[in-house]
Amino acid sequence: MLGLGGARKRTAFTQTHDCLYELIRWLADARRRSEPTLAEGEAAFEAIWQERGPIEHAFRDDYRRLAARLVAALIRAGAGRRFRESEPLAIDLPNGRVLVEPNELAELSDGSVVVRRVRTGQKRSDEYDRLEYTLYQLAAQARFGGAVVVQALHLTDETAEAVTITAAKVGHRRTKSDEMLGRIAAGWFPPEVDAVTCPRCPHFFICAATPQGNLVVA
Ligand code: SF4
Repeated sequence: MLGLGGARKRTAFTQTHDCLYELIRWLADARRRSEPTLAEGEAAFEAIWQERGPIEHAFRDDYRRLAARLVAALIRAGAGRRFRESEPLAIDLPNGRVLVEPNELAELSDGSVVVRRVRTGQKRSDEYDRLEYTLYQLAAQARFGGAVVVQALHLTDETAEAVTITAAKVGHRRTKSDEMLGRIAAGWFPPEVDAVTCPRCPHFFICAATPQGNLVVA
């Protein structure tokens, strides 16, 4: 109505972050044929960086150094694995289907499958309480059964570990996800009005959160 943009404001940090996720996609494809070396990974990242990175920014060298460290961590974390082509994994719930697109799918030497979620940042204190990890668990088990491990790779910490979530929490979040699907299918999106966050939301002027009264465009 007012021509307001809803896009996230791009910063040097988010551009760096986007470059790293582009490299993760490049790696998922390249690893199906061979294991890229650090030099190959760096060269691929440099091409992405020149195209999409914050190359005009005053602190570009600092961002590039940070990125180089994370690129090296990402390449090292792939050592010794046989990567498979990543495929969307389905979870069929009573109210619909959820598709999880894992960052990495690999096989270990004992034949077990590892489904890995990669994050560029540090592990947060409530990391595995986030819904996406439960969806990873449910989707991995639905596709591969018991011989699957869901791992989280946190590049800033340089840690890769198995995701542990109790059966009770998985069951609760499964039910919650199904309820969410039901609400989406029914078109039920009630506004959650909040005096602090709503005025910063790009939908504010067309949302039911807007205060009553006429809108006058000067
Ligand atoms: S303005 Fe509407 S859509 Fe935006 S946060 Fe508030 S309730 Fe949600």
